Amino acid sequence: MSYSQVVYDRLSKIYAHQSEYLQAVLEVLVSLEPLLKSTNIYEKNKILERITEPERLIQFKVEWLDDKGEIQVNKGYRVQFNSAIGPYKGGLRFHPSVNEGVLKFLGFEQIFKNSLTGLPIGGAKGGSDFDPKGKSDNEIMRFCQSFMLNLYRHIGATVDVPAGDIGVGGREIGYLYGAYKKITNTYEGVLTGKGLNFGGSLARTEATGYGTVYFAREMLKTKNDALEGKICTVSGAGNVAIYCCEKLHQVGAKPITVSDSRGMILDENGINVDVLKQVKEVERASLTRYKELVPSAKYISVDEYKKGTNAVWSVKCDAAFPCATQNELNKEDAITLLNNGCKLVAEGANMPSSIDAINVFLDAKIHYGPAKAANAGGVATSELEMQQNASMCSWSFEKVDSKLNDIMTHIHENAAMTAKEFKADGNLVLGANIAGFRKVADSMIALGVM
Ligand code: NDP
Repeated sequence: MSYSQVVYDRLSKIYAHQSEYLQAVLEVLVSLEPLLKSTNIYEKNKILERITEPERLIQFKVEWLDDKGEIQVNKGYRVQFNSAIGPYKGGLRFHPSVNEGVLKFLGFEQIFKNSLTGLPIGGAKGGSDFDPKGKSDNEIMRFCQSFMLNLYRHIGATVDVPAGDIGVGGREIGYLYGAYKKITNTYEGVLTGKGLNFGGSLARTEATGYGTVYFAREMLKTKNDALEGKICTVSGAGNVAIYCCEKLHQVGAKPITVSDSRGMILDENGINVDVLKQVKEVERASLTRYKELVPSAKYISVDEYKKGTNAVWSVKCDAAFPCATQNELNKEDAITLLNNGCKLVAEGANMPSSIDAINVFLDAKIHYGPAKAANAGGVATSELEMQQNASMCSWSFEKVDSKLNDIMTHIHENAAMTAKEFKADGNLVLGANIAGFRKVADSMIALGVM
């Protein structure tokens, strides 16, 4: 049995109940095989055993009062996974599905993603099983304050810098930052995704979605192709999906779908981003509201979907952008996409494709941009926010966007060159995983065992 198989077998026994974590680890370990065969230095230093365990896993209780004055209790977490190349960095997710295994998968992936950006940031993730849906603004505020009352002692501008993720946007980051400031009496860049008036960076809101489109552009460039004129399907209707659609329009492509947990919109005229922002960012409504505002669009509720598949991926397209959540695209969806002529998949969400689905894309040799590489623009721009905070200044939108563009171009180049080095031309899963891993693993060896 190979070194990575031995490590994976051990983890799968200990963490049998953490399916998302095991899925994320398996994907990385399989693609590291050629590297591990080429040298025994990582085995000698037990890097796989060390890199798959978080450095620290913090769990706390979050008590808060709802609008009726009743006490509510949620679980809060921060998984500080790896700090070999920089302070811990990664988002906070508020969603009922959050548990230790989900945050460990996200934190584990974050290590390699952050490494790929070329910036000095370690990997972390956190959040709560709190469900922001249907909560009043005051309830959100009280929850965020109580969450920070527990978290503040574990984070800091050079220690651990959380950001947003599912269910945590500008409003939540504002309340979290306000609480941190009050508790610690400091004004430092301890969170990213902040409002522009209090230390936020221009282009951070747009960064993940825009970055995914820049990455897709780089993939197509290798075959002298471009996004212009391409019909695109996008899943999700949150931060990543909205700005993915916006950038697709800007480069002359046509996004025709978006989705949320209740249903999807098919708008053959191209998703109207102003309407989408009004529905999701202002009114925080369901996509049925988009249909009210754009009657020519088609709304399909999840109840109408074929069980076990995602209706977004049954829509004929040239390029697909999964931007909602993990495992939202399975093998059957992947085959449907290919049969309908889809030639590119770029992942805005984290681990949206199952391992079977990824293999379908790799076997078909279409352009496949794995999440770690394709959505790294969000965290990279968060790091640019940290740079601005540290030097007490703010940069123009153009400057940040241009740095983001360069970073995404470099990530693609790095993943593509690494794939070539290991004779797996075009396999960006292998390229991104090896390139991200090597920098962290070599740093761990240099830093010693302690
Ligand atoms: P948001 O909360 O802004 O939006 C999430 C969207 O996905 C919503 O439309 C939501 O629908 C939908 N969604 C969430 N869970 C499910 C589900 N189980 N089934 C169907 N739809 C679902 O989150 P973001 O846009 O920030 O994040 C989306 C993805 O991108 C996540 O995987 C996240 O980890 C990843 N990501 C985000 C980054 C960022 O900067 N924000 C950076 C890198 C990756 P509904 O509102 O109905 O729940």
